[in-house]
Amino acid sequence: MLDPASLELLRHTLLAWWESNGRHDIPWKRHPDGSRPGAGEPLDPFGVWVAEVMLQQTQLAVVLPYWYRWMAAFPDLRSLAVASEHDVLMLWQGLGYYARARRLHGGAQQLVAAGGDPWPRTLEGWMALPGIGRSTAASILSSAFDLAHPILDGNVQRVLARLVAHPEPPKRQLAQFWWLSETVLDPHQPRAFNQALMDLGAGVCTPRQPCCGTCPWRGHCAAYAAGDPARFPVKDTTTPIPFQVIGVGVVRDGDGRVLIDQRLQEGLLGGLWEFPGGKQEPDEAIEATIQRELREELAIEVTVGEELITLEHAYSHKRLRFVVHLCQWLAGEPQPLASQQVRWVAPEELASYPFPAANARIIAALHARIAAG
Ligand code: SF4
Repeated sequence: MLDPASLELLRHTLLAWWESNGRHDIPWKRHPDGSRPGAGEPLDPFGVWVAEVMLQQTQLAVVLPYWYRWMAAFPDLRSLAVASEHDVLMLWQGLGYYARARRLHGGAQQLVAAGGDPWPRTLEGWMALPGIGRSTAASILSSAFDLAHPILDGNVQRVLARLVAHPEPPKRQLAQFWWLSETVLDPHQPRAFNQALMDLGAGVCTPRQPCCGTCPWRGHCAAYAAGDPARFPVKDTTTPIPFQVIGVGVVRDGDGRVLIDQRLQEGLLGGLWEFPGGKQEPDEAIEATIQRELREELAIEVTVGEELITLEHAYSHKRLRFVVHLCQWLAGEPQPLASQQVRWVAPEELASYPFPAANARIIAALHARIAAG
C-alpha cells in the first residue's frame, strides 16, 4: 500500500476530497484579508502558535471564540510578552488547562528576549519553548511556513491506525506512527496535506462511527477492508480514573465579603483563584473536612452552614465531586499557608478574578443565593 504509486494516489485523493470538503474557514490558516495562502507562502506564526496551543486539549469549535478574543487583546508577540499574568489568565478563563496560558506568556517573553527574527524554523527551535512537543512544533511549522513536517495528533493517529489496520495501540508504537505520518505526507503541499488529514479525522474518520462511505481513502483502507474500522486504533486496557470528594467553603465575614485564595503557580490550575477547601479523608464528614482544610490552609476557624451546591468535574486523569457549603468566619486572620495570597472580596467583584471552570457554577449559585435573600 505504501509503494510510490499508492502514496501518490493517497495524497491526490485526499487533497482532492479536501478541496471541496475541508475546513477552509479556520482564521489562522488564512491571511488577514481572508485569502488562502499559496504553496510556500508564510502565515502569521503568532496566530498559528496561539491556536495550536489552545488546540492541545480543546476542540476547534470551542477554541475559535477564545482565539478571536485573544488576538483582539494580544495581536502580536510583543503585546503578549508585556501583558500581566492576570490579564492572560482572565482571557483563558473557561478554556481549562491553564498551564497552557502561562506557557504561551512565558514563551512570548523568551522569544522577545532572544531578539532578531523571533520565529523558529526548526522543530528544535519550537520545542525549546515551554509546553511545545514534537506534534505541536510540526503543526506550527507546517501551518505557518508550509514546511514538510509530519504531525501526529489524536485524529491523525486514528486515521493512520485504520489505514494500515495497525495491531498495536499508537501510544506503544509512536516511532512507527511518526514514520507512517512522514511517509504519507505530501512533500510538495505539506500544509494542505496535514490539514486535510486532520479534517478527515475530525469529520469522516471519527472515533465511533467512521463515515467510510464518503471517505476518499476507502479503497486503500485496511481497517475498512477488514470490515470493522471502529475496532482501530487498538486500545490499551483501561485503568479506572481516580475519584475524589472535595469539601469547599464559601466563607463570608460580617460584611458579606467572601474569602478566595490564589493557587500556587505549579500544576494545571496554577495562579488561578478559588474558594478554599480540600480532599475529604476516609470516614470524615464533609463539614469536618471543610473545617479542617480551612484551619490547615488559612489558619481560620469557621462554622459550616448549609450546602450551597454539589457539582462534578472530570479532568482527563481524575474525577472530582465538589461539595460546597456556606461558612461563617469566626476567628483567625486568613493566612496563605498553601496558596500565594488570600483576599476578602465583595461577591460582585468575583467576576474580575480568573477561576477554574468548576468554580463558575459555585459563583452563580452564590449570586442566586444572595438574590433569594
Ligand atoms: S475508510 Fe473508514 S476507517 Fe478507513 S480511513 Fe476512511 S473513514 Fe477511516
